[in-house]
Amino acid sequence: MNEQAFHTNFLTLSGHQQARASLQKGGRRQPFPSLVFDGPSSIGKRLTAVWYGAYLNCLAADEKAPCGICTSCKKILQGSHPDLHYTRVPEKKTVVGVSEVRDAIHEIHHAPFEGNYRVWVIEEGERLTDEAQNALLKTLEEPPGRAVILLVTCLAGTLLPTVSSRCRLVRFQGLPRSEMLSALQQQGADDELAESLTSLCDGALGAALSLLRDPKSLQERDSVIGLFAELPGSDLWGAVEAAQTLEKSKLQSPAAVLELGMSFYRDLLVLSAGCEQLVLHKDRLSRLQELAANLPPASIRRAISEFQEAEQFLQRNVSPRLLMQRLCVNLSKVSV
Ligand SMILES: [Zn+2]
Repeated sequence: MNEQAFHTNFLTLSGHQQARASLQKGGRRQPFPSLVFDGPSSIGKRLTAVWYGAYLNCLAADEKAPCGICTSCKKILQGSHPDLHYTRVPEKKTVVGVSEVRDAIHEIHHAPFEGNYRVWVIEEGERLTDEAQNALLKTLEEPPGRAVILLVTCLAGTLLPTVSSRCRLVRFQGLPRSEMLSALQQQGADDELAESLTSLCDGALGAALSLLRDPKSLQERDSVIGLFAELPGSDLWGAVEAAQTLEKSKLQSPAAVLELGMSFYRDLLVLSAGCEQLVLHKDRLSRLQELAANLPPASIRRAISEFQEAEQFLQRNVSPRLLMQRLCVNLSKVSV
């Protein structure tokens, strides 16, 4: 998890009204103790989890939303509330293992220090090892009183059925275009930048906001797309060089590199189906048109399935170097 992307300012949460309303059904008195938040990455699931933690612990009488000004809300905004716990992939590791989960289970069994509930947010749930998920089972089966467990993931399908069947599923979708635009403008983007970030990030406000805060990552994104765009028809040496550069990319994770590359090839598919208005990478339109004119849809689909396979390798902890090499070499063979 990129620390820069980690923030607890639930007051900036946009959209997800349906998810929020379903979370509030039990009010503050009867929350569902174990929930899975599922949906595409960087769209605000984790921030909704923080928002819900704030809602459950808010001291204001109004139950519509966390007030943002009581001592509980303030501590959550500062990231210092003792009853909110976060489990994320430890630095230099790619998975959440059984020891991280056991530590957190120990914590969650204490009564709340000062709030109404202890809230445990597990980020990137798709990175829990099977052992870690098994270690969770008993706690999900018999959650301690006044504890709420929020398992946030972009791939609920990778959770063990024994885990997902013990949780209530809350589904999230990308933000609509109009909400993305206004959220970005509120955060200081001018009209043109808001438009291009909205197109680029396809409903993922979190991704758009980190690009807005860090112009260098916008350049990095651009160069990653450039490398993927030039791969079809390139020679072996070019493919190996591209893989080396992609592996060292400063984008937040190898998964983010794959997702970005795949979005370019999805654009190709969209374009070859004649839907130019749906293209995300409009600034690459001439290259997209060139490729779409020369590649049969079956080759484009094969390229996309190469990305899906690479994502599966990543989940199985294959080294990013190996999977990038394999991906780039296979994409270079997609003939023009
Ligand atoms: Zn409050």
